[in-house]
Amino acid sequence: MSCVFCRIISKEIPAEILHEDPDCVVFKDINPQAPVHLLVVPKRHLTSVASAREEDKQLLGHLLLVAAKAAREHGLADKGFRLVINTGERGGQTVGHLHVHVLGGRQMRWPPG
Ligand code: 5GP
Ligand code: ZN
Repeated sequence: MSCVFCRIISKEIPAEILHEDPDCVVFKDINPQAPVHLLVVPKRHLTSVASAREEDKQLLGHLLLVAAKAAREHGLADKGFRLVINTGERGGQTVGHLHVHVLGGRQMRWPPG
């Protein structure tokens, strides 16, 4: 049984997909925490950044570049935005498939909760 993001990637369940390339997809978060809340998700099921390996280096770099491009395309570059990778239980990760949150359109606070 594949995970929820694998099922979005295989189009088994719908999502508002904004970008797709051979290595990743970008779609809108179903429960947005900011006016813009996107998820950048590798097509290959990687559990988290904690389980990434040396051979995933190029993929990880790609995810960040796609995240920055998506932020620019949503008009977030001038005022700024936040990228978040929740990792594991204490990191607040609820979906066990690596993803980068792109959050913007409001002032972010620090430290995060
Ligand atoms: P995490 O808590 O693991 O960092 O983030 C998981 C994110 O995935 C949450 O922000 C949650 O709203 C989002 N999410 C969970 N299930 C779905 C879904 O079926 N569709 C979409 N578009 N987002 C989802
Ligand atoms: Zn998956």
